Amino acid sequence: MSRLIPFDNSYARDLPGTFLSAQPAVPAAPKRVFFNDALAHDLGMAKELRDLVPEVFSGARLPEGAEPIAQAYAGHQFGGFSPQLGDGRAILLGEVVGRDGARRDIQLKGSGRTPFSRGGDGKAALGPMLREVLVGEALHALGIPTTRALAVVATGESVLRDTLLPGAVLTRVAASHIRVGTFQFFAARSDQARVQALADYTIARHYPDLAAEPAPYLALFEAVIGAQARLIAQWMGVGFIHGVMNTDNMTLSGESIDFGPCAFMEAYAAGTVFSSIDHGGRYAYANQPLILGWNLARLAETLVPLFDADQDRAVDLANERLEGIAARYREEWVAVMAAKLALSGRDAGDAALADDLLAAMEGQGADWTQTFLALAKAAEGDLGALRAQFINPAKLEAWLPRWQARLAPDAPARLRAANPRIIPRNHLVEAALTAATAGDLAPFEALVAAIRQPFSDDPALEPFSLPAPQGFGPYVTFCGT
Ligand code: AMP
Ligand code: MG
Repeated sequence: MSRLIPFDNSYARDLPGTFLSAQPAVPAAPKRVFFNDALAHDLGMAKELRDLVPEVFSGARLPEGAEPIAQAYAGHQFGGFSPQLGDGRAILLGEVVGRDGARRDIQLKGSGRTPFSRGGDGKAALGPMLREVLVGEALHALGIPTTRALAVVATGESVLRDTLLPGAVLTRVAASHIRVGTFQFFAARSDQARVQALADYTIARHYPDLAAEPAPYLALFEAVIGAQARLIAQWMGVGFIHGVMNTDNMTLSGESIDFGPCAFMEAYAAGTVFSSIDHGGRYAYANQPLILGWNLARLAETLVPLFDADQDRAVDLANERLEGIAARYREEWVAVMAAKLALSGRDAGDAALADDLLAAMEGQGADWTQTFLALAKAAEGDLGALRAQFINPAKLEAWLPRWQARLAPDAPARLRAANPRIIPRNHLVEAALTAATAGDLAPFEALVAAIRQPFSDDPALEPFSLPAPQGFGPYVTFCGT
């Protein structure tokens, strides 16, 4: 029989000294909760695997070719540096090269203690793992780069959080798990050789064209700026708030990762925060682009020695790139917003046009998703649904003629293609996770099916498109520990 999973483990092979070996715990009574058939197929996994989901994706049975390791990383958490974090509750089984030719990590999350667990149990509760499924599938369906869930297996054991909760193991698929914090781990130890090896590996894996550049490490930094600026602009476009943009939760690949206290914004407010631990609003909606720059500055600090043999010049090169991040992000954001507004061509006033719509929405109770969804009808002359989003549409009325003057000829179709109808609504996510925790998976399964069709106008999906009913909220999310 061919191998169940065609592992080819380049990280373990090429980067000795950046990880420790770790063994998944064997759960009491593993039971399949979720399996992503289409993704398994895309990854070239064997069909037989479908019948082995509980064993293989709980860690009870290691498929041939797996080399379980825990990766080292550090990170700034809410601005404070922890020199050692690492995979405390995750174990990388290995990598596979999918049918599309792209290499991806296959990682278990919640499969028990590793050498990086510190005081933690290395386990995960079912609810937060299902939230990772929902957010990953939603972002993916919205066309936003993201890690995704391949499987969730309930362990049959309880984990102790505020209360006893059902335990689960998530299998996560990622372009890689190389984080800003991975570079910080070695830089903090002045291990320049490993920083360089990691940079070479990252170039080979994610940006192979850059290897031939005269200054490949600077080119790598620029590529990561571009990928992350694009990513955060896309998040902003769908109202996504990551909630914990620590440097250990930012990838070099440009994929979204580590969905703990994240949520999609409903009524637009720039300062929206969902996370129970984000007291200062560090990771509020409108702060995400600033944190992008802050985190990339931390990455630059680790790479500076590689930028140029002359360290003064290396610092200048880094600073020039860092100073360009805000403008780079803004360019990406204006492109996202120009698509969401179906603007014709480009105009110097487009950024202000987008800014002014947001200013008009602030404090109006305007649901982010519904407001943009209503633009298609507005472009056809029916302004009712759009106006209904605003408590007082005065600012909207002043904005409308400016927008209408900039509309592309095929605006309604473009607006429908750019603005989703269905995102994971907070009240539905909560209801689905609560029911799943109590043993009923039906609401979760219905929600997964709905968020996989964000642009569908199927009337049956109407309940998934509506904001939370009055009385729900204020919504608070908790870290997925
Ligand atoms: P996260 O909040 O998932 O980004 O994790 C931050 C750090 O805490 C990482 O080093 C995790 O491995 C570690 N961690 C989170 N939860 C646990 C747990 N239950 N047991 C051990 N380590 C954990
Ligand atoms: Mg993390």
